Amino acid sequence: MADPRTTRVLRQHLETERLLGVEAVPADAATLAAAADAARRSVAATPGATPSTPRAWAQPPAWGGGSQPGGTPLSDLPGTPLPERVAGDAAASLRVLDEQAVRGCTRCGLHAGRTQTVFGAGDPAAALMIVGEGPGAEEDRAGQPFVGAAGEILDKQLAAMKLSREAVYIANVVKCRPPDNRTPSSAEAATCGAYLRAQIEIVSPRVILTVGGPAAKLVLGVTRGITQVRGTWHTYDGPGGPIPVMPTFHPAYLLRAYTPENRRRVWEDLQAVMERLGDGAG
Ligand code: SF4
Repeated sequence: MADPRTTRVLRQHLETERLLGVEAVPADAATLAAAADAARRSVAATPGATPSTPRAWAQPPAWGGGSQPGGTPLSDLPGTPLPERVAGDAAASLRVLDEQAVRGCTRCGLHAGRTQTVFGAGDPAAALMIVGEGPGAEEDRAGQPFVGAAGEILDKQLAAMKLSREAVYIANVVKCRPPDNRTPSSAEAATCGAYLRAQIEIVSPRVILTVGGPAAKLVLGVTRGITQVRGTWHTYDGPGGPIPVMPTFHPAYLLRAYTPENRRRVWEDLQAVMERLGDGAG
């Protein structure tokens, strides 16, 4: 039986892998022991690494059935009856969507474990929309996306882009916290994705930045991991037309792997977003 510290470190390692898009791990004892050693070395080499919320040991296949994940692009979702938009008023349209549809929503099982829904925040007419996967424990308590240590990293990234939270719009694929911070299932993402799609339609951003492997998979329907899809432009088929999407690493991943190489990669992604926003081509 592993001691509590080993268990905690191993869970940190698994969380880091999950943010990179790894959804399943071999379960034989030898591999797990090797992973525990790697996790100890990783944390020992990362001063100030922030402990993660403990996670369930074995993650179920995120996309169901244990088969090769195919993902369900939000652009392929069937329409979901939602409140009508307030003509010419994006802020009011978002408020109505939140108050009349999302806050009391019980359309998927995630509602059972939430403290409150986390709808989204920011400029209703933002040129840049940032999409994460789902609320964590701190977001669930605060009712706001990207709070805590990962939120501080995001704030620094936005400042480096000469932006602020007030100047962008931030939302997650699912509005309720998944138990143990697990990745939302494809069914949960498909159901709640109707809200995100409505938010994208209302905000009508010129560029979308997805953070983390799960968000990229959920938004774009790609099956490859974040290390393979980040740094290249993709397209989200929005209700108002195609929107360029840049996937990058999740701020929480940088907390655990704050290496010059990862910071350089993320900065390159953010610079590409800045160029896209600046050239008016988005
Ligand atoms: Fe509704 Fe989304 Fe919450 Fe599921 S995650 S209950 S669809 S708001």
